[in-house]
Amino acid sequence: MSSPGAPTVVIGGGVVGAAAASSLATRGEPVLLVEQHGRGHDLGSSHGASRIFRQGYADAEYVALTTRALALWEALEAAVGHPLIDRTGAVDHGRPEVVDAIAAALDDAGIPHEALTPEEAADRWPGITFEGHVLTHASAGRIRSAEAIEAFLTLAARAGAELRFDTRVTGIEDHGEDVTVGLSDGHRVRTPHLVAAVGSWAPTLVGDLFAARGTRLPALRITQEQPAHFPSLLPDEAWPSFVHWAEHDDVYGLLTPGEGVKVGFHGTGPVVDPDHRDRTPVATEAARLQAYVERFVPGVDATQPTFISCLYDNSPDEDFVVDRRGPVTVATGFSGHGFKFAPLLGELIADLVAGGTPYPRFAL
Ligand SMILES: Cc1cc2nc3c(=O)[nH]c(=O)nc-3n(C[C@H](O)[C@H](O)[C@H](O)COP(=O)(O)OP(=O)(O)OC[C@H]3O[C@@H](n4cnc5c(N)ncnc54)[C@H](O)[C@@H]3O)c2cc1C
Repeated sequence: MSSPGAPTVVIGGGVVGAAAASSLATRGEPVLLVEQHGRGHDLGSSHGASRIFRQGYADAEYVALTTRALALWEALEAAVGHPLIDRTGAVDHGRPEVVDAIAAALDDAGIPHEALTPEEAADRWPGITFEGHVLTHASAGRIRSAEAIEAFLTLAARAGAELRFDTRVTGIEDHGEDVTVGLSDGHRVRTPHLVAAVGSWAPTLVGDLFAARGTRLPALRITQEQPAHFPSLLPDEAWPSFVHWAEHDDVYGLLTPGEGVKVGFHGTGPVVDPDHRDRTPVATEAARLQAYVERFVPGVDATQPTFISCLYDNSPDEDFVVDRRGPVTVATGFSGHGFKFAPLLGELIADLVAGGTPYPRFAL
């Protein structure tokens, strides 16, 4: 039996674990969050000062989820008393069938958006060269991502959560009704509720545990991605968040104030072991990104990239995985587009811990 009042143990201090800890703790649950690295570390998927918030999905269900997430971001901004999303708007351009499908989904959801010609778009945003169809929506913007994680952690701690960094979960013993979590500081915690918000580490940390309970996690491909910041030649106000549905690869970009314009190919990096990777950019991919930027992002200096290394936990269909078996809830498969949903993911996880049913699209 677990001891009365045993905390829900949240593994992972990335944005999803932080959001889950915040949702759980503010609902009055005792929470222990453990993170193997330091607070705000740069070895997972969540580091850096900026992420795109956008509602432009071709899939009506994800559009609806962005609306739910946006309301929760606004509630979080109110709770911490400062903005977490800069409303720069977003622009999509490129393959007409993709851009038109996004426009249709935004239309169906009643989200205001505007179609432009590439020339009109270039007049408005001279830092970008547009092609194909162009679409903009104003409810999008730039999440102050490092601040957002801090906001979740602060709210969690304020509501009584214990946050332990530099503490690795070294083993999980499944007793059926509850689990014992072994920590690298020598402690063992028995708990009826474990949340593995471990992103790229889910297959190794809880894959076998789920398999032993008769459920396989989907085949997750863990890749090392290498976007880069390029010095901006334009004022900060010149930059929307942007996605280019290009012929071969999808490309995203946004300004990180003080660091430059971040541009990256979406999910093209090599498969890696999250614990053993060199974080060095692949030279051919680096050259390809610079060539892309030279051609399509004239508002930056393409010759001066500062590369970033981060992980994508790619599910086969880019759908998230948020589900529970017995005492263990897992959250993974965020496939390079999870940050914008973080406050909603925290709520979905807290609902599962409270005995709720999984959100069907994310169920195992
Ligand atoms: C370069 C890049 C750009 C992106 N851009 C966007 C964007 O613009 N918009 C958007 O919506 N999304 C974006 N994403 C995706 C988004 O950032 C991720 O989906 C999100 O950060 C995933 O968070 P996470 O908490 O699941 O994973 P992580 O941040 O990786 O957190 C998992 C944590 O678990 C910890 N952990 C693992 N194993 C253990 C253990 N045994 N013991 C203790 N701790 C453990 C890890 O150290 C890690 O901190 C981007 C991702 C990257 C990499």
